[in-house]
Amino acid sequence: VPDQEKPVLAVDVDGVVSLFDFDEPPEEAGFELVDGVVHCISFASGALLRELIPHFDLIWASGWEDRTIRLTELLDLPTLPYLTFGGTARFGSADWKIGPLQEYAAGRPLAWIDDSFDPSCDAWARSRKEPTLLIRSEPHLGLQSPQVGALVGWARSLEFDADDSYSGA
Ligand SMILES: [Mg+2]
Repeated sequence: VPDQEKPVLAVDVDGVVSLFDFDEPPEEAGFELVDGVVHCISFASGALLRELIPHFDLIWASGWEDRTIRLTELLDLPTLPYLTFGGTARFGSADWKIGPLQEYAAGRPLAWIDDSFDPSCDAWARSRKEPTLLIRSEPHLGLQSPQVGALVGWARSLEFDADDSYSGA
């Protein structure tokens, strides 16, 4: 059951947790076999995602779909829900995530970290009535500490705004 009190955080896998486009193997990462394919998994991203759990309702937003279950073991994460895309997932793009994300996060603030935003994602984010934050990752680095700081700061600013609106000013 999602925690309706917290903003949603949609987390991509390829380019956020599973790294590519690097010249040298990244630090704090390792090659792991997932469903018959070798991926360079950022172990650093696991620790960073754990820092975000108190502040957000996390959901995987990736063509990995049920393969994300393996990531919970590799990254020592609690089981997280994942979106499904009915066969529309395409590597290197993200517009196919918008419909399912809109449905999942309807009426709630949403942050989304991904390496493949295109203008349709930016336009959708601007069109949402609820606070919406897109954070772009670099596929050779994945999730990084400054992005976690930005996300936590954003989540806290929402709490502040909510408290403010109850003050009856
Ligand atoms: Mg990606």
